[in-house]
Amino acid sequence: MQASRATKFTIGGFRVGFDWSVVIVLGLVAWSLASQVLPSGFPGHSSQAYWIAALAAAGLFLGSLVVHELSHAIAARRVAGVEVEDITFWLFGGVARIRGELPTPRVQLLVAGIGPLTSLALGVVFWGMALLLAQLGAGSLVAGTLLWLGVMNGTLAVFNLIPGSPLDGGRVLHAILWRLRGDRTRAALTAARVGQGVGAILIGLGVLGFVLAGNAGGLWTALVGWFVLGAARGEAQVAALRIGLGDSRVRDVMRTQPVVGPAWFTVEAFLQRFVPEHAHLAFPVQEFDGRLSGLVTLDALRRVPPERRALLRVGQVALPLERAITVTPDASAVEVAARLAMTRQTLALVLDEGRLVGVVSPTDLSRAIALGQSFPRGRGAGPFGPVAQPTAPPPANAPPAPPPPQGAAPAPAGWSPQAGPAPQGGPAGRGGPAVPRPGSRET
Ligand SMILES: [Zn+2]
Repeated sequence: MQASRATKFTIGGFRVGFDWSVVIVLGLVAWSLASQVLPSGFPGHSSQAYWIAALAAAGLFLGSLVVHELSHAIAARRVAGVEVEDITFWLFGGVARIRGELPTPRVQLLVAGIGPLTSLALGVVFWGMALLLAQLGAGSLVAGTLLWLGVMNGTLAVFNLIPGSPLDGGRVLHAILWRLRGDRTRAALTAARVGQGVGAILIGLGVLGFVLAGNAGGLWTALVGWFVLGAARGEAQVAALRIGLGDSRVRDVMRTQPVVGPAWFTVEAFLQRFVPEHAHLAFPVQEFDGRLSGLVTLDALRRVPPERRALLRVGQVALPLERAITVTPDASAVEVAARLAMTRQTLALVLDEGRLVGVVSPTDLSRAIALGQSFPRGRGAGPFGPVAQPTAPPPANAPPAPPPPQGAAPAPAGWSPQAGPAPQGGPAGRGGPAVPRPGSRET
């Protein structure tokens, strides 16, 4: 989501995107430094000097975050030979999306652990430079700015080591549990559950801090917690899917002979004459010449205002084929489940050499998991909520199907607009930065 509107660059051979929200957060950081933190910690300079120092600090902080994410990406590429899809920076920090999976617990430990270590090293470097400058008696403002950067990077390292996925510490926990138990998926589920707990605790602490102490920064902590909770929940759902679906292929879970709708119908005709005949929530649609053209959902059809329904054709409101989820029958069922979850689409199209041979909906996956549970293999909770009727999909006029799990929204990662040396000069004691790596969720 965030990636789509991000401005992209290439840094060190990696595609790096910056969402517009980065500018806002950096602006807030600079404003807080220039107007409060630096003047109270290092008085006696002009406001111009504070602003120059603050902007430089904000820029170097963003640079530190980029170095942190690049360390994950480089480790993944060098050590595991796993490519990195892209790195995106947005409101809550950075996310490096890794294509494929890390092969062993050791590699996972290394790729996850290197980020906090890098931040720690940066923190030590900035802190050392600040000490050196202070010893030389040079520019207290410059030394103070470097000290702030040192503290921020240290905070980033510590926060990221909190042991709950999707934080780096959660990946480390995953690696350790994986090694101990020898079961990658169950280890991932545990790490994600711990992440959900961490998110809930952050929300609680943030809200308490705000209510009891009037600490506005508590709201930021709560917001970070909320994103950690959401991302960890998504990861837990994907892990549960892996446990439930095991090695199933798409051909094992798909519904064959799907009903294909006419894309040339008007929305009105489609709703009146086609939809009532078929109890589905989404339909693949084809052109008059038989060419498959996309996917239309009842939601999309219903969103067309009644007065326009006779004017618009179904093909005009359908999701074009290139944006629909298409898979082959041999693809892994977990992969299609994760893609459905991530995009929140209601149907995946199964194509064999360009021919539509089946469809997969969340209901089909829930059914496959439920069936799997009658065998010793599966124990995963139904990630799509209560398992629906195992036979027919919900009737067309029923409320929308249970939503797919909120999947891999870019995992949260945070930096605090006001974290850093408090006016007193000490580090702000608020939870702040997190730069998790959603890693092996991407397939
Ligand atoms: Zn990281």
